[in-house]
Amino acid sequence: MKSLFAAIILFCFTSSSLFSQTHSNFYQSIVDGVKYDSILKSLQKIESLGVKSPGTAALVNAKTWLVNKYSNYGYSNIQIDSFNYNGDMLYNVIVNKTGTLYPNTYVIVCGHYDSKSGWGGGSPGANDNGSGVSIILEIARLLKNVNTEYSIKFINFTAEETGYTGSSNYINAAVLPQTMDIRLVFNIDEVGGVAGEVNNIIKCESDQTSPSTNNAASADFTDTLMTLTGLYSTLGTTNTNAYGSDYMPFQDADYVITGYFENNQSPVVHSSNDDLSNLDTSYVFDIAKAATGATLYFAKAYTNNTIIEGEDSNLMINVFPNPVEKQIFINSSIALSKIEVYNTEGKITFESSLNNQFRSKIDFSTFSNGIYHYKLSDNSGKVLKTGTLVKSGN
Ligand SMILES: [Zn+2]
Repeated sequence: MKSLFAAIILFCFTSSSLFSQTHSNFYQSIVDGVKYDSILKSLQKIESLGVKSPGTAALVNAKTWLVNKYSNYGYSNIQIDSFNYNGDMLYNVIVNKTGTLYPNTYVIVCGHYDSKSGWGGGSPGANDNGSGVSIILEIARLLKNVNTEYSIKFINFTAEETGYTGSSNYINAAVLPQTMDIRLVFNIDEVGGVAGEVNNIIKCESDQTSPSTNNAASADFTDTLMTLTGLYSTLGTTNTNAYGSDYMPFQDADYVITGYFENNQSPVVHSSNDDLSNLDTSYVFDIAKAATGATLYFAKAYTNNTIIEGEDSNLMINVFPNPVEKQIFINSSIALSKIEVYNTEGKITFESSLNNQFRSKIDFSTFSNGIYHYKLSDNSGKVLKTGTLVKSGN
């Protein structure tokens, strides 16, 4: 009750941003493509590579394996950010997907692929952070051919375990020099849970540290992440503060962050026991679904053939009056380029350019009485609205 009441109040008095966080069938159809087998195979591979700390062949092999995976998914814009760290070459793997509307504004989906050296010979890193890496691979696979308004960078950072070395290097080498426009950093680190326990809650992490100028936006996105997690998975959520992972250097540079972290915290991470037998693969699978739904939403995904009204809070189109006797009026928040009118058999009976206008008027007086369907599209051919009109008065 409490939360419903709050939602109604917000909807009435502020923006429509909450309204757009409704379940999307289109997003669900992509989320349904998350494969348990893909996740499992990635986890097995990451574990089998061994301890991936700076200076190891395993870390280099992991980089090569990642690049091959992304290129097998069809990505060609894969960038390797290499740098020297204590005499060893280290590599961040950055996969670029260009947005259609905001090509220079990025949603970064990231998770480190190195693992901890040290205790008991070091960690194979199945949970920390094979879990995050396997999820990011799966999101990248599923989104390859999906249009997004914002650009996405899928990033696997190296050397998180030595103190965010990879992400810090990337910020200094690329983000700050380019004054990169980043909509959101969505970090996924250690989301394997604990084998034998009930793992059904995920921590959604918001920025609660200095500088505070970016904290409110982080809280908003994290709120949204919690809602989306509920829409696209069966997981419960809890809001916690972000700390101890690659989003921290971004927040230090005043960027907006959010993240996932396991609620049941593994007692074996950073040790040689961080293997598949000690995590919950079904939990990783569920988080992959939630993370896919969230990425689709954050990057504003759409298809050319899909009606985006209802998925884009900035889009409003009114067609009236209905029933219509003489003419219809079309008011739109986005310039429209074309109307097509169909009869009930799906045959096109009328087609007209709308000249990229926000307001149009169409004469219906010569149409015979009956039911008509219409389609409104923009100048890229994207259908923004369909509907039904009743013609009367003849
Ligand atoms: Zn980690």
